[in-house]
Amino acid sequence: MRCPQCIEPIHATAVSCPHCGISVRSLTKYYDSLRGVGRRIYDAAGVLRVKERKVIEQMIHRAEREFPQLFLGCVTVALKDHQTIQGAGVWMLNQADFGEMEETVLSGGGYLLVIEVERRQCCVIHGLLLDPYLEPEQTFQAISGAHPYLLERDYVQSFQMMLDGSCALLRRCARRSRGILKKKGLLA
Ligand SMILES: [Zn+2]
Repeated sequence: MRCPQCIEPIHATAVSCPHCGISVRSLTKYYDSLRGVGRRIYDAAGVLRVKERKVIEQMIHRAEREFPQLFLGCVTVALKDHQTIQGAGVWMLNQADFGEMEETVLSGGGYLLVIEVERRQCCVIHGLLLDPYLEPEQTFQAISGAHPYLLERDYVQSFQMMLDGSCALLRRCARRSRGILKKKGLLA
């Protein structure tokens, strides 16, 4: 898992982060209000209507059919002063109970699209499985198309843009790594 404060990998049983020093106890204090995750859609900010949730759910299912090794989630939050959008996303990914998901997915295949409704920010938090393939700058670019819709508070379209950009990025990564595997003779 990752540290919500500095986003570096930390051990699941760590009591404090070896990178930035923050204790898990104070992180719990900061982010404990964000519980109940593990669903495809976690509307912690309470901004999505039933109809909108259904549309987003379908978008997630379509994307997951293309990338079955990933667990996709769409999250809205309204943060307090000491919370950051990245911190909240990491916290939720760490806490998520993905139920029926396989161990490999649990251990790092999560991909959360997070929208902050007051500051109108968005970000991607992904599990450690994707670290070798994705640079933070790439994921930032991939979701940048959502910003005009965030300003309009059009959350469905915002998630759609984030998901479209992310899928395009993941497709590029998959092509590249297939090429590498082929060169090494590991793939037909
Ligand atoms: Zn840290």
